[in-house]
Amino acid sequence: MSTKDRFSIPDFLVCPVCKGPLLASRGENRFELVCPSCAAAYEVRGGTPNMKPDAARPLAPEEARRWREKRRELTETLDR
Ligand SMILES: [Zn+2]
Repeated sequence: MSTKDRFSIPDFLVCPVCKGPLLASRGENRFELVCPSCAAAYEVRGGTPNMKPDAARPLAPEEARRWREKRRELTETLDR
């Protein structure tokens, strides 16, 4: 088992603001769905994502940039 964070795109969920694809961010104590376009993270609690835009955690610019790169990597992998 790798200890690295794993990322995936849950294709059943989109960002409530821009309707773009979300990335799942699984940390040690945190599970969020990240929208790189909006630079927002939606917290998942007890398996239920809180998709209210006003409950979203704003990402720092650097964090948002990394997520956009990650989404591009994932998209390219999926297209192959
Ligand atoms: Zn969005």
